[in-house]
Amino acid sequence: MHELSIAMGIVRIAEAEARKAGAGTVRRVEIRVGMLAGVELDALHFAWPMATRETLAEGAELDVEIIEGRARCLECNQEYSIEHLFDTCPHCHSPFKHILQGKELSVKALEVG
Ligand SMILES: [Zn+2]
Repeated sequence: MHELSIAMGIVRIAEAEARKAGAGTVRRVEIRVGMLAGVELDALHFAWPMATRETLAEGAELDVEIIEGRARCLECNQEYSIEHLFDTCPHCHSPFKHILQGKELSVKALEVG
C-alpha cells in the first residue's frame, strides 16, 4: 500500500524532529496534503497506526489539512481550482496549465512530549 510508505515517511520525519527537540514521544502530527498529491486520505488514516507502531509516534494523533488544487491556464491566464491533474480550464478548455498548489505533502507541525 502506497499510503503506508507515506505514513512511514511522515513518522521518520516526526521521530527525527522529536529527537532533535530531546522529546521522548510525539503526541500529534499535523500534515498538509494537496488534493493533487495522489494520497488516499482514508488509506493514510488506516495505515497510520501500523506506521507508528513501536516508534516515538505510537498513539499520536494525525491531523490532515487539505490543500485544494489551483492552476493557472497557460492559454487564457485565468486561475481556477482543479480536482484532478488532467482537468481542463473552465474558461477556454485548454489542458495546458501551471499548477499553483495542491501537490504538496508536508509535515506542518508536531506536538511532542
Ligand atoms: Zn484557459
